[in-house]
Amino acid sequence: MSELSNIAVVRNLLEKHGFHFSKSLGQNFLINPSVCPKMAEQCGAGKEWGVLEIGPGIGVLTMELSKVAGKVVSIELDQRLFPVLEETLSECSNVKILPGDAMRLDLKEILEKEFPGMPVAICANLPYYITSPLIMRLLEEKLPVQTITVMVQKEAAERLCAPPGSRACGAVSMAVQYYARPEVLFSVSRGSFMPAPNVDSAVIRLNIRKEPAVSLKDEKLFFKVVKAAFGQRRKTLGNSLSAGLSLPKEQILAACEEAKIAPTARAEQLTMEEMARLADSLCRDT
Ligand code: SAM
Repeated sequence: MSELSNIAVVRNLLEKHGFHFSKSLGQNFLINPSVCPKMAEQCGAGKEWGVLEIGPGIGVLTMELSKVAGKVVSIELDQRLFPVLEETLSECSNVKILPGDAMRLDLKEILEKEFPGMPVAICANLPYYITSPLIMRLLEEKLPVQTITVMVQKEAAERLCAPPGSRACGAVSMAVQYYARPEVLFSVSRGSFMPAPNVDSAVIRLNIRKEPAVSLKDEKLFFKVVKAAFGQRRKTLGNSLSAGLSLPKEQILAACEEAKIAPTARAEQLTMEEMARLADSLCRDT
């Protein structure tokens, strides 16, 4: 029912339930009728699939997901939306709403319990205030999912999908590329939301790799090195790593030499393989 993206219908519905938008929960609901069917289609889920959604709002995307997938489980934190969702999704028998905070719930357990033996996609119009930490959580927990398709602010989309070795690349982009092959699917203007945010958005899809992009001696150390290198991104690696990892500069210089990386380079100039070599060279030292 594309009615859920009709402004008059949404206004009536929210008024009837006495609902007011919460800015702090990142509540900007989609009212552009073309966006949700496109997201549902491009998340890659089919009838045998399970889809985990985060933040259904009034269920506009949930409804489209229920048409393409076998089962949809949707986590919503704001309990004021439960009676609304009960009404809007009353005819979607393959949808289950789970109350709770997506940052705290045990997602692995939920996926195992709700989608046994099924391929799983995550699809969501994310509340902007938890975009990066939530995506990092989804990736770091190595959840058994094939794709993560999310609407995020345009700037975040650019940052998350920036390839290593490019100016826009940061610690989060490096982490995303380690676990997934990211792609920007399409842009969505700010006018597509109610209330309209101050910035445009984009839908990105992270195609989860079967194996991480590089093999490492110590994954934890790799992420420490990435964080330290990008933490002071204007500094040379020699300085940023020495400060960020609390190691003497000579040790960093020796590791750079072993990894065949110029200590005068900056984090954004390194490929994933170079960053991995550097972390491996530091492995004995930390
Ligand atoms: N999917 C709807 C749409 O596209 O119109 C709503 C998207 S709105 C950007 C974000 C949704 O996430 C809201 O429904 C909000 O209440 C919910 N939310 C915010 N923080 C959350 C959290 N920590 N866990 C689960 N849901 C959350």
